[in-house]
This record gives sequence, structure tokens and C-alpha cells, in this order.
Amino acid sequence: MFTSLEIHEFLLNQIGNSKEISDYRNDSVIISESTICKDQKGLIAIDNIPKNSVIFSFRSEVTHARTRTSIQVSADSHIEPSAFGMYANHSCKPNCCMYAQLRDNGASGHIVLITTEPIAKGEEITFDYACTETKLTPELRGTKCLCRQFGCRITMKGYVDLTEKERRVLNASNHVLEHIKQVFVTI
Ligand SMILES: [Zn+2]
Repeated sequence: MFTSLEIHEFLLNQIGNSKEISDYRNDSVIISESTICKDQKGLIAIDNIPKNSVIFSFRSEVTHARTRTSIQVSADSHIEPSAFGMYANHSCKPNCCMYAQLRDNGASGHIVLITTEPIAKGEEITFDYACTETKLTPELRGTKCLCRQFGCRITMKGYVDLTEKERRVLNASNHVLEHIKQVFVTI
């Protein structure tokens, strides 16, 4: 997981204007036909994109309802991504990592999607839903994963649904949000 300081630097270096940080989208990415989910839209690179590039940055008020597209920003709050960010699809071997944090004393949340490897023109932008969600909505949970990547978990899972081995692998990747890992911390 990127540190808050790294995220701040990525945003300042790549966006600069603090107003845009609330709703920024990378010009090298468009909403188009998904290469993963048939008949659905996804975020597709229209240019080569270097590692550690911000794909989008978005701030919004939190809600307490999980939806098909929401991102979990704390144990019990979520934000809806922008009309652009909502098209980022899942992969068990993603090319991006989602950073999510509460802001304004818990009133709002901030999500930033950053590339973890160089992305080639034509590639779809993906992140791992199990890194940002403790649970998935009933409509998504347990459905077939379509990522076709080596090590695919076969079905769609939130963090709590992972097998112990899957959880170990994911924790080692260092891409799981801290408030998602906390679900397994016993008091
Ligand atoms: Zn998969």
C-alpha cells in the first residue's frame, strides 16, 4: 500500500491543482468496452501509462450503504466513485491499487487509483475488489470472476470470503487497505 505521503506526492506532481484532486481523471484513459466483462464498460488505456500514475482521484461525502460500485473508506462507510471511476473493473492480478481514506472527520472520503506497473495502450485498468471491500454486495458475491489471470480466485470475493491462503497472498502484496485488514483483528 502506498503511504499517505506518497499519495500526496503523486497527486501534487501529477495534478498540482488542489481543486482538481477532488475530481481528477487521467487523460490517457477512456470509458470503453471492457476486455474482461463481456457487454460491459471498463476503463481502457489509450496510451502507454507509466507505473505510479494517478488514474483518478475523487472526494465525496460518505454513505453507509454498500453498492455494486461503492468503495469502502472505513469499517462502516463508503463512497460512490465518480461517473468515470465507477467503471474500474476487478482483476485477481490487477495493474492498479486503490487508496481510500476518510476525510473531514469522517464526513467525506477520498479515493485514488494508482498504477502499480506500466500499462500498455489498449490494456484495461483493474484493481482487486478484495483489497478495498470486506464484503461484496449479494449481486456480486460468489459470481464467476472473469479476469482469466493466473491465480484467479474463480469467484468474486470480499476480503472476509478469501481462503486463508488467498488472504496470506493478498496481505503479502501490500495492497490491502488497513481498515479492511482490521476486520480480522480480535479485541
Ligand atoms: Zn479473477
